[in-house]
Amino acid sequence: MEYYLTSVADVAAALAASPAGLDAATAKQRLAEHGPNRLEDAQEKTIWQLLLHQLADVMILVLLAAAGVSVLIGEAKSAYVILAIVVLNAFIGFVQEYRADKAMEALQKMAASHALVLRDGQPQQVPTAELVPGDVVLLEAGNVIPADVRFLETHALKVDESSLTGESTNVEKTMEALPPGEYPLGDRLNLGYKGTFVTNGRATAYVVATGMHTELGKIAALIQTAEVVTPLQKRLGTLGKRLSVVALVVGGLFFGVGWLRGDGWEELLLVSISLAIAALPEALPALVTVSLALGAGRLMQSHALIRKLPAVETLGSVTYICTDKTGTLTLNQMTVQDFYEVPEVALPGLGDLNALLTAMALNTDAACDSENQWLGDSTEVALARYAAEQDYARPALEEQFERVAELPFDSDRKCMTTLHQTAQGVLVLTKGAAGSLYTQLTNSQQAGISDLQQRVDAQAAQGYRVLAYGAKMLPELPADLSSATVETGLTFLGFASLLDPPREEARQAVAECKTAGIIPVMITGDHKLTAKAIAEKLGIVSSEAELVMTGPELTALDEPGFAAIVEKVRVYARVDPAQKLRIISALQARNQFVAMTGDGVNDAPALKNADIGIAMGINGTEVAKEAAAMILLDDDFATIVEAVRHGRRIYDNILKFIRYILAGSAGEIFALFCAPFFGLPVPLLAIHVLWINLITDGLPGLVLAYEPSERNSMRRPPIDPRQTIFADGLGWFILLIGLLVGGLTIATQAWAIGQGLPHWQTMAFTVLCFSQLGMSLAIRSRRESIFSLGLLSNKAMLGAVVLTAGLHLVILYVPFCNELFSTQPLTLAELGITVAVASVVFWVVEIQKLIIRRRGVAPVPQHQFPRPSLPTGHAN
Ligand code: ATP
Repeated sequence: MEYYLTSVADVAAALAASPAGLDAATAKQRLAEHGPNRLEDAQEKTIWQLLLHQLADVMILVLLAAAGVSVLIGEAKSAYVILAIVVLNAFIGFVQEYRADKAMEALQKMAASHALVLRDGQPQQVPTAELVPGDVVLLEAGNVIPADVRFLETHALKVDESSLTGESTNVEKTMEALPPGEYPLGDRLNLGYKGTFVTNGRATAYVVATGMHTELGKIAALIQTAEVVTPLQKRLGTLGKRLSVVALVVGGLFFGVGWLRGDGWEELLLVSISLAIAALPEALPALVTVSLALGAGRLMQSHALIRKLPAVETLGSVTYICTDKTGTLTLNQMTVQDFYEVPEVALPGLGDLNALLTAMALNTDAACDSENQWLGDSTEVALARYAAEQDYARPALEEQFERVAELPFDSDRKCMTTLHQTAQGVLVLTKGAAGSLYTQLTNSQQAGISDLQQRVDAQAAQGYRVLAYGAKMLPELPADLSSATVETGLTFLGFASLLDPPREEARQAVAECKTAGIIPVMITGDHKLTAKAIAEKLGIVSSEAELVMTGPELTALDEPGFAAIVEKVRVYARVDPAQKLRIISALQARNQFVAMTGDGVNDAPALKNADIGIAMGINGTEVAKEAAAMILLDDDFATIVEAVRHGRRIYDNILKFIRYILAGSAGEIFALFCAPFFGLPVPLLAIHVLWINLITDGLPGLVLAYEPSERNSMRRPPIDPRQTIFADGLGWFILLIGLLVGGLTIATQAWAIGQGLPHWQTMAFTVLCFSQLGMSLAIRSRRESIFSLGLLSNKAMLGAVVLTAGLHLVILYVPFCNELFSTQPLTLAELGITVAVASVVFWVVEIQKLIIRRRGVAPVPQHQFPRPSLPTGHAN
């Protein structure tokens, strides 16, 4: 049915709906019939797909090939062990991925939007997914339209349909049926589409299509987002490819050399395959996703809801946090502290009433409900409550002076106006930023402006938000209700000074930012002096070199001029949301990584373009939330800083894992590869290599993700996103520790053979395993000693090490396992020797950290690094 050609009544009849909304039972039934109002995600994986995904891994395929080779050469027992390891490994991978998927699903549920719907005649917040055709939705500015709808009532409604039609101007919507004809999507003026959003006014509408039946659903296949790859994953992908080549070369060389020496080709082939596996960090990219997803789950507990996964990783690289003031740096609890009335101003029609207090009570959208709770914007509430406390209550006054029209507040005009019917005519009341009112005053009052300005500035300099009031009387309601006709020729009545106390935790968070090499910047619509005073209280501005500038000053600067100072500006006052974009690009052009907060519809472009867009969870519009990479559930600045700390921790832990796995692999490769050059037999069998790779490396590696933050994580510069994985000595670490592990293994083997010990192979195997375990403990911190961290500070790690060591002892001492793994029970003396030799690795890593500590902490520099191209996924 073409709903846009049909009258509202016929639409209702066709949908079996009414303006009072559906009842719960019908809604439930329709939901079962039409399915959830959700775009189907092609990427959603079932449990089976997840399992299959584990098995489709290249490494697993190589292992299965190895099992096949074992069977061919009559080593069926090896094949069983390989298969068992494959299954165990796939299971661990599956559990990890499943948990990560669940964590992300929970986050998505949290981020799921709600719509205000009339059900059983009552407005209710209903999850968007539960909307059904026939539902009546109530929409206002800032709402994303939750389904395809047909408007039945509109008030100055404007919709941004650019996401669907590409048309950038807002479309004015109506409720009238269109004359018969063909209309493209953008011209169907009485329809609203899922995914577009309301920029102005309000409306009531019938849901006409949901889910995949909406216009957005029809093109869903086109917009379904590709799987997101984070910068780190990209780098690991490249590393993986290079290491695959290394693996092939190492495996091939090993086989070639062994064959030339006349070793048996069967075992050689198996060991070559194992060697290749040792060099293949196949699991790394997947591990990064798992760590990021689990990290996102942890962030949630700190009130930061991640919408785009790469944000978790990028958080650690943030160098500038540009934040709103009200509610984020301050408590958003405004109270009127001071009050100034222009003497001898009287308005005809108000009788004995005080003009300023009457204006305060009438020019407001705040209301007090039956339980004495104030509802509305905090500025409005503060003013209306103050008036009410002076016995100027809004309801009583509105009865006397009915509101006949209004010009709502917007942050460009920085004022709002209400018009009221009085016996003498229509009373116009305007309130807003004092600066916006000065230019609109009557000629006779213009002369007093400098005095007023001085008074206002004095208040603003103390950190007060000053709201000024003006008024005029019109004979009748003007036909043209524009700001140019209504908000001019006003008489200044006076002003009120409001205080919004800074958040205590924000002050600490600002200090923490500074030690972490991150610069906090305040962006506000408020007066320059107010903003500066609050920034000083919070420590954002602490010296003359740190600049405070206003939107108009910013407009006056050309690009090179702004680029020259942008890194010094700490406060932007009286800026409009569009200027946020300019600030972001100027900072990004200086290679800075910018986190930007926002709450309004107009903030969406800035949120999309920032490296991390952060929307307010409490005061933010849905549009801002949809554009953001992260949502602050408590609107608190301190939460952003906490999220950065988590981001750094997660990144650190991923690097620790890489360090651990690669150093371990290098050890194995050196041992296997070099032994023959010392005239020794191959120290390990294929099965041993697999055991080390998948069990000894795997378990402790996994729990490295649970490692708490490094103590200095917020006292060092942000992570340079372009830095290679091997920066910071990682390459050297892998090489040297690899050589050490390999050397110790070969030395033990040589010594044991020299001593005529029959268990030399099991001893070499055990040295490799235990040295890896020792390393996993020492590697938990980049610089702190394990003794100062405490063994118990990562209990999961301790558990994993004990478990792995236990499993190793099982395969040494259980006769059945000896058979399977070709091991022999070591004597106590042999075991003691291997443990002692293996522990060298632990001590060497501890000494390396001691040297790092002795060198001291480098001071946190004003950070700057060459800017890489933005990672996919969060910047669009
Ligand atoms: P912040 O960053 O501190 O949250 P903001 O950018 O949200 O500030 P706006 O709400 O856009 O600031 O307000 C800008 C100016 O508009 C304020 O300084 C105030 O003078 C004026 N103003 C704010 N709210 C109202 C209102 N409800 N009615 C009239 N004027 C208002």
